[in-house]
Amino acid sequence: MFCVECGKEGNASYGGLCLGCFLKGRELIRLPHHVDLQTCTGCGEYLLGNDWVRMRRAEACDEAALAALEIIPEATLVSVGIKSTQRDERSYETAIQADLDIDGSAVAAETSTNVRVKHTVCKRCSRKLGNFYVSTVQVRSSGRDMDRATMDEVAARVNAYVEGQSRNNRQLFVSKQEEVAGGLDFKLSSNSLGKSVARILSEEYGAETKESSSLVGVHDDGADMYRVTFLVRLPGYAVGDVAVRDGVPYKISAVTKSGGRILSLTDFREEPVRKSDLQNLRIEFAHGTYEEATVVTRSEGEMQVLHPRTYATVDVAVPEGYEAGDAVSVVEWEDHLYVVP
Ligand SMILES: [Zn+2]
Ligand SMILES: [Zn+2]
Repeated sequence: MFCVECGKEGNASYGGLCLGCFLKGRELIRLPHHVDLQTCTGCGEYLLGNDWVRMRRAEACDEAALAALEIIPEATLVSVGIKSTQRDERSYETAIQADLDIDGSAVAAETSTNVRVKHTVCKRCSRKLGNFYVSTVQVRSSGRDMDRATMDEVAARVNAYVEGQSRNNRQLFVSKQEEVAGGLDFKLSSNSLGKSVARILSEEYGAETKESSSLVGVHDDGADMYRVTFLVRLPGYAVGDVAVRDGVPYKISAVTKSGGRILSLTDFREEPVRKSDLQNLRIEFAHGTYEEATVVTRSEGEMQVLHPRTYATVDVAVPEGYEAGDAVSVVEWEDHLYVVP
């Protein structure tokens, strides 16, 4: 066999051409004139193939260009180097260098394209913006209005939990969080998410939960579509609340489904309590409503602080090994100050 072009003897297996003549002037890899890269204005993620992914913009341009790369069928791609350089706010010059193998011969090729960043809104964000929701979690306090500290804490917990879940499944989100009379409502993107949010709150606060569902329509596949509402009733007490029993103030130091633990503010002994006992306690100071007292002197088991309102120097007991800063949290009960550790 000899090459029909140059006459060289050898392996003229490329339509009668030798490899050298076959490669001459031939485009081995090709990119379109431009590649559009979709980014969501809501979450900032990039659409690559069918997936929305979080990555740096230049990397997303690399990926988008690589996905559009065409290689002649005679070659296989051995390795590739990509570099995206920003040209202006929404466009990148992306260059690709490819090492190819053609019939055992290593051949290098390069090309480039213009990646244009296009703004759009992903399905999740458009659902979020449209206040799409399936499930509602209603969080209420029994026996009292939910205080600000509890509301903030519950909201932070729910949002952190859902954010963690959404890393594995981006269809999970909080559509809306609303303060309503008596508590907080969360509108969530799925019933199973509602169920798990209700469960973590019930575990965390020893809350009672109730669920009810209503039929709202049919799914595309004909299955019934339900909205499930979860009512989470927080007990009338929470960790950090101070209650008084037999004239002694106690801090609630732990809450579980069946009860909890209380800490005496006179001798700092802790003891377990049943749920029914907790329910019978009268909360005198909700957590987050303590006063601050400036520390004057400290010694083992005792401290002198400035009374927060009279500025008199007062002796207060502290637990063993207690390390106070410049100020401590205190409550005043029957003209006596108690440190809340
Ligand atoms: Zn030839
Ligand atoms: Zn989005």
